Amino acid sequence: MEEIRACVQIEGVVQGVGFRPFVYGLALEHDLKGWVLNDEKGVMIEIEGEKKRVDGFLSGLSFPPPIATIEKTSILYLPPLGYNDFEIRGSIEGEERVARISPDIATCKDCLNELFDPHDRRFHYPFINCTNCGPRFTIINDIPYDRANTTMAPFRMCPLCSSEYHDPSNRRFHAQPNACPECGPTLKLFTNLGKEITTHNPIGETIALLKMGKIVAIKGLGGFHLACDATREEVVSRLRARKYREDKPFALMCRDLEVIKRLCLVYDSSRELLTSKERPIVILLRKKGAKIAPSVVPFQKTLGVMLPYTPLHHLLFAEGVDTLVMTSGNVSDEPIAFEDREAFDRLKQIADFFLVHNREIRTRCDDSVLKPLKGTVTFLRRARGFAPFPIKLNRDGKSTLACGADLKNTFCLTKGNVAFLSQHIGDMENFETMSSFEEGVELFKQLFQIEPECVVHDLHPDYLSTRYAMDLDLPRTGVQHHFAHALSLMAEHESVGPALAVVMDGTGYGEHGTIWGGEFLEVTVRGYKRLGHLRYIPMPGSNMAVKEPWRMAAAYLERIYGDLEGLKIPFIEGLNLERWSQIGKAVSAKINSPLCSSMGRLFDAVSAILGVRNTVNYEGQAAMELEQMVEEGEMGEYPLEILEEKATLIVNPDPIIENIVEDIRKAESPFIISARFHNSIIRVISRMAQRMREETGISDIFLSGGVFQNHFLLGKVWDILKEDGFKVYTHQKVPPNDGGISLGQAYYGVNR
Ligand SMILES: [Zn+2]
Ligand SMILES: [Zn+2]
Ligand SMILES: [Zn+2]
Repeated sequence: MEEIRACVQIEGVVQGVGFRPFVYGLALEHDLKGWVLNDEKGVMIEIEGEKKRVDGFLSGLSFPPPIATIEKTSILYLPPLGYNDFEIRGSIEGEERVARISPDIATCKDCLNELFDPHDRRFHYPFINCTNCGPRFTIINDIPYDRANTTMAPFRMCPLCSSEYHDPSNRRFHAQPNACPECGPTLKLFTNLGKEITTHNPIGETIALLKMGKIVAIKGLGGFHLACDATREEVVSRLRARKYREDKPFALMCRDLEVIKRLCLVYDSSRELLTSKERPIVILLRKKGAKIAPSVVPFQKTLGVMLPYTPLHHLLFAEGVDTLVMTSGNVSDEPIAFEDREAFDRLKQIADFFLVHNREIRTRCDDSVLKPLKGTVTFLRRARGFAPFPIKLNRDGKSTLACGADLKNTFCLTKGNVAFLSQHIGDMENFETMSSFEEGVELFKQLFQIEPECVVHDLHPDYLSTRYAMDLDLPRTGVQHHFAHALSLMAEHESVGPALAVVMDGTGYGEHGTIWGGEFLEVTVRGYKRLGHLRYIPMPGSNMAVKEPWRMAAAYLERIYGDLEGLKIPFIEGLNLERWSQIGKAVSAKINSPLCSSMGRLFDAVSAILGVRNTVNYEGQAAMELEQMVEEGEMGEYPLEILEEKATLIVNPDPIIENIVEDIRKAESPFIISARFHNSIIRVISRMAQRMREETGISDIFLSGGVFQNHFLLGKVWDILKEDGFKVYTHQKVPPNDGGISLGQAYYGVNR
């Protein structure tokens, strides 16, 4: 019988995820000797014994524990050394530093079984976890990932927990947050005046309060949620009023899939997303007659739903609660509250009660939001469950810090060929978010041992992220916003181009003081050529036009018809013409009215002209509501015009708008008009793609930018381009919106 020794190096998320006990078990199962340890790259194994058994062991490695991710396995065969047993060896000191840190993971099945087993010592214990589940990223202070470096450090394990922790055959071997009712974190319930409610059963009390129609701030994994009964209109609208959030949808948490199925259409792919270990919020089509308070999602056909993902959540739903609003614990646009004191300060006007625990949250991390499409997904927000899982790049390069954009900000740090993209940070318009950004950068530098050699930022001089970059003593580069969108998608697919990119977006800083956002580019990883764009139009009042879509509508109509007064459509009849004539003067004098080529603003204009929305309460609202109105099955479209100016293709949307006005005059249904408008934009993109292919001979095409969160648009564009022989690339790992910008910037830095 031939004896062999295999040295195996495994890279990926393999530390702190139960990988070594898994290897240990596998070695015993195959009766092999040797050792396993954590090293700087991941996990290192030496395994020796009969060749057949070693082969069996090696194939067993392809079925790792649920939250481990193997990126690379290399095997070297050597003569056997005659090991006596198999052991888990101590880590090589100080060398676990570039290893991956796992995101936070939803409670696993085994832990759930124990949670509801009256004979288990962790029966109903809200902090149960094991190496396959529980908090990770949000509790880490420093590396290596040991208990002492997490916010579990103050809790000393009891003898039982400690024996689990040290037993390689136990599911809790080296589970850093391991705890039990004897030794771990506990819950407390407070009124919003900070008075503790003495009770042996804070969860039971909380359930009773929720059933009574109270709003409770609940401390979770990455921050506080505001929770209330989602079926009671008076409660949900009270929450809206207190949170100063007019009509941005609230996310729901439902007891189980059955409850979600009563509310939404659930297909197989969405079921997988909902029950995945990441447990994101999934955007689904709402069923007619779904029993939900209207204020949960005003003006939308969809619902954002998720399943419980911590033991605390599971316990909240154990006693007859079906559906709770679970929205980020913040006021309006501030970031989610995550520290106890801060939460009391900021949320006491909103919540009636606070359910808190004494395990500190180190890092703020919101729920991730995903939208399923044709068996794939679009990220709207990438955070809990995914961050800080790295994204592999096409090559090694300089360590780069990319600062992202100011809306939906994320930042990104690279090391070698890996990009560590931060969780969603938020809109950089207040002090809270800015400090969250700065702390985040410092934490990532520390956790992943990265000292950036260069910094990349947006071209917008007034972005706080740009100013932050300017203040650093590092070589820096600005990358055009829409080029960065394209690059973020190229990074996902490890493409260096040349390729075509269609970037349909809100607004981003272009060249020569213009605002871009409807861009047709030829791209490589090093630069871009602007082959075409949406025809420029002034943005009356600059950023005011983003908040007030009627301004864009008026600008378009004035360009087409000159005098607005004679235009007999409801939009004009409702318009304050005097106010507009004042704004119009500023536009003619080119005051505070930059030229823009933004597709997002065109959607806004059409939305206002159709009477859908004149002002918005959150970014993209007008366009989202226009998408919701599409009459499926309507195939009509409006004529389009592509002009050529100085070798650049210009999409003139004016004929589309003229025809919309005609349809409105004929009292055509706004649902039909919305569909025809969408169909026209799909046609525009397909025609432009053909023209670009004719010019360049390139048929790889990348679709990015915030407008592609519109799935009616994205789905149809995808189909039509594919049918036309294009190779179509869409986002799978990062959002098409500005949440992806930092990855694109980083990709540029690494490939320079
Ligand atoms: Zn578990
Ligand atoms: Zn214990
Ligand atoms: Zn953008």
